[in-house]
Amino acid sequence: MSTSTNIEIQKATAERTAEIRESLADIRARVASAAQALAVNSESRKIVAVSKYKPSADILVCYEYGQRDFGENYVQELVDKAKELPSEIQWHFIGTLQSNKAKLLASVPNLHTVQTISSEKIANALNKALPTNRNTPLNVLLQINTSGEDSKSGLSPLSPSSFDSSQLSDVQKLAKHIVTLCPNLHLQGLMTIGALDLSLSANEMERNADFERLKQTRDILVRWLQDGLGSSHDGVNVSKRWRWGDESTGKLLLSMGMSSDFEAALKAGSDIVRVGTGIFGSRKTKLSST
Ligand SMILES: *Cc1c(COP(=O)(O)O)cnc(C)c1O
Repeated sequence: MSTSTNIEIQKATAERTAEIRESLADIRARVASAAQALAVNSESRKIVAVSKYKPSADILVCYEYGQRDFGENYVQELVDKAKELPSEIQWHFIGTLQSNKAKLLASVPNLHTVQTISSEKIANALNKALPTNRNTPLNVLLQINTSGEDSKSGLSPLSPSSFDSSQLSDVQKLAKHIVTLCPNLHLQGLMTIGALDLSLSANEMERNADFERLKQTRDILVRWLQDGLGSSHDGVNVSKRWRWGDESTGKLLLSMGMSSDFEAALKAGSDIVRVGTGIFGSRKTKLSST
């Protein structure tokens, strides 16, 4: 029997521990000052520590320093780490999910959010795979391809000019599908990766355009959800009050911003930032393209 009090992973060195703590403290301070500039409570802005390719020992350092949310890109890696790390961790899956891996991923009891939903097929696979003894629905975010690059997965963003009230967009269709037909999933928000290649080259306009497109998509979607999913319900019970949005605020959250641009993302209205290298340092080079 393994329990959360029975952790037997190799501890990080004192030097590595100090290094990670310092980086995490720095990221927290920067998130707090961005929140302060917006006059919002910094508690309402979540840092997901992206730990892909980093050892469990590094994750444990953050955990012991109060960090609870961690993001992973690969199903098997998340599953393996979840087994040996404390069950209080809230795991976020942020990679591309294949439906044949949904069952394995859903078996992690403390899987908190899947941030990369972009098809009904994946939503159905997860909804079906979740164990019946889970006491909370799984949070899901819809991935939006705000930069429009072919290499990125995700749904097309919504804009007022392209919005057609007589025809549902892919984002609306998927939101409706999850809210009305996937009782084990909870639609909590939207996520974008944005134009990665540009984020380092300080092309601020492009980067901010990505953030704006995600926010605009959220605002249009929220209005439509508040309207009771528009008028076409094809048999779905309209009188029922659909549940979506953050449990405490009711807002549809935005997950945008990474190590190189999380402050700009927060300024643009991000609720969840995903920070990897800023906390753990650089990853092996093979990863720089993911
Ligand atoms: C790797 C990754 C991150 C973290 O990127 P950093 O630049 O290391 O902060 C964030 N989001 C996604 C989807 C990722 O794959």
